[in-house]
Amino acid sequence: MRFPLSLIFVICFVLPTPARCWWENGHRTVARIAAANLTPAARTRVSKLLGVPDTAEDVAEAMAKAATWADEIKKDRPDTAPWHYIDLTEQDPKTAFAQRCAGDNCVTARILLFKQQLASQKQGAEATAFSDQDALRFLIHFVGDVEQPLHAISDADQGGNCEPLDPPMGKARNLHAFWDGYLPDALNPDDKLLAAQLNTEIAGFSDTRRQGMAEGDEQKWAWESHEIAIAAIYKRLKIPEEPAEFPTNCASAPEAITSDKLDLTPGYAEAMLPVVRLQLERGGLRLAKLLNETL
Ligand SMILES: [Zn+2]
Repeated sequence: MRFPLSLIFVICFVLPTPARCWWENGHRTVARIAAANLTPAARTRVSKLLGVPDTAEDVAEAMAKAATWADEIKKDRPDTAPWHYIDLTEQDPKTAFAQRCAGDNCVTARILLFKQQLASQKQGAEATAFSDQDALRFLIHFVGDVEQPLHAISDADQGGNCEPLDPPMGKARNLHAFWDGYLPDALNPDDKLLAAQLNTEIAGFSDTRRQGMAEGDEQKWAWESHEIAIAAIYKRLKIPEEPAEFPTNCASAPEAITSDKLDLTPGYAEAMLPVVRLQLERGGLRLAKLLNETL
């Protein structure tokens, strides 16, 4: 079932702790790119786990649908909400992952745990208490999340959720929403068409380039997103650097952040489109490689 827009609005903008969600389009696009790059063996396993026929079309549709499940269950499983991001501060060194991921409650730890579950290095119940189908659905979602630069940074602003835009950009009223929804939609609001465009582009890349884009592990991917967030978002928009604090809601975020109403220009959005495009392509190729090696 698709997530009603009104509910997304409530979850992303109204609840005291704003959710962090690449909206449907971004997640579904990453899933479709991955589906197109699966090995036959991995595709067969995905089709079994998701309960659909083993055809390219069925698996792509099922993965796109599965891609947003982790957001849909947040209302019933609020304990899973921190699994979608990691709050690395602007001051943090590359060694800060453990410190910012207490109890494995962050996106990088969860990618690793669910990957291990599917690789049968640990048994489902013991490792995560989720079924293998759920582990796959989490993985499809979280590899997408980790490519959203604002899922790998905190400036005492909940990954940009507490940075209001004035004026709003489309439906996006804060910086996080601008990256979650406005930018992917600006590429193409139809995930099937967007994935087809990006897959055509990817098919034109050399093998070396494609392999290079898919390389690394979840911490490398998160750190890369973190660095993109610092350079292309925080520094470029001249957002003041705040101390390493983690407000539980935007009302308790520093005033320098909440009163710093960002006026994003169309030029800024235009300049960020290639970044979003690359992050979606990386997400798709990385998810495919992870599944190809794990399943
Ligand atoms: Zn998410």
